[in-house]
Amino acid sequence: MASALKTIALFGATGSIGGSTLDVVARHPDRFRVGALSAHTRVDEMLELCARFRPDVAVIADPARYPALRDGLRERGLATCALAGADALVDVAADPAFDTVVAALVGAAGVPSTIAAARAGKRLLLANKESIVLAGDLLMQAAREGGAAILPVDSEHNAIFQCLPADGGRAGVRRLLLTASGGPFRGRSRDSLAGVTPEQACAHPNWSMGPKISVDSATLMNKGLEVIEAHHLFAVAPGAIEVVVHPQSIVHSLVDYVDGSVLAQLGNPDMRTAIACGLSWPERIDAGVAPLDLPALARFDFTAPDHAAFPCLRLAWRVLDAGGAAPAVLNAANEVAVSAFLQRRIAFLDIPALIQASLDALPGGPAGSLDQLLAIDAAARRVAASLVARMETP
Ligand code: NAD
Ligand code: MG
Repeated sequence: MASALKTIALFGATGSIGGSTLDVVARHPDRFRVGALSAHTRVDEMLELCARFRPDVAVIADPARYPALRDGLRERGLATCALAGADALVDVAADPAFDTVVAALVGAAGVPSTIAAARAGKRLLLANKESIVLAGDLLMQAAREGGAAILPVDSEHNAIFQCLPADGGRAGVRRLLLTASGGPFRGRSRDSLAGVTPEQACAHPNWSMGPKISVDSATLMNKGLEVIEAHHLFAVAPGAIEVVVHPQSIVHSLVDYVDGSVLAQLGNPDMRTAIACGLSWPERIDAGVAPLDLPALARFDFTAPDHAAFPCLRLAWRVLDAGGAAPAVLNAANEVAVSAFLQRRIAFLDIPALIQASLDALPGGPAGSLDQLLAIDAAARRVAASLVARMETP
């Protein structure tokens, strides 16, 4: 028998994770109802989703698009209530009408609503890794105090979540092994990456994802962000987290125990597995994902990461060692650098250079409150933007 109907607030509904979430939800109308949807700017897509899923609330983060959303809902005869702005996301995240919040928006814009959902004791499906990188201590504290359950919707962290002891303890855990596909430039030398384009960087061999995380995968900054994410989510020391390159993206990550047992979670590279796990845990539901065909795969490869070609990865341990707000500086500088690269203002190899220069200029300082962290985020964006202007080729 299915458990009681869960009402879901999905932030980032028009994105890659948003679409996969709605696909899983649509397979189980007896279990899930869409209560709220949000998007940044794309009103037309949002209206189509509202017509299909009939949410109570639709939030458009960009206030300038509010009239188009409100009028579009009215023209279609939909009862969905239109809201706009970043504060509306926080209100919806905390609203007791929604028991499950899916944080599938991209970037530091997700921090306030993610923390609000944690504080309100929601089941929180966390895809928005930037929020835990920027404010990991605050987010985990809010979840503890609010009684929220954080279900990781990053394939690696979802794998580790499934492989850790069921009692929530860490007894006998020696290491967490995060797998990395290596991205589209795996095996290439540093010098050969000087002229790569945004199109090449976004052409991921195994996963279809939004542009920001695609570039992060190409620089391996994504894996660095995931090291920080794993440290906070699983309360494991940075020195006990390792990265191994696994080009097939079938072994999603592993937990190494002191007796020599290594537990792994495997599956096809399809985010619907992690999303379905997060939505229904500890029950299992159909995610629409094809069964794994091991003979067809034939082999798995594992190699050590190439830190010389991909210096972003090591920065994760650097900022964790520095502590305080250093991860927030790293995240902000990376967001600015990736956006400038996507706009063809800086080159691919400028991305790690820009992040390192930002960390040198602004080492971080103590983390403090959310307001203090967001002020450091803003200061780091200013530093990074001035570095972009200096690096930019006319
Ligand atoms: P995407 O670019 O496809 O979608 C991003 C969504 O966020 C869109 O709905 C957009 O409207 C919304 N958004 C963007 N800026 C916003 C803002 N300022 N305010 C409010 N909403 C905003 O991205 P994605 O690939 O779906 O990734 C979403 C998050 O999930 C990222 O943090 C990413 O790192 C993480 N993630 C993604 C994948 C994946 O397979 N795509 C895997 C693991 C983790
Ligand atoms: Mg991942």
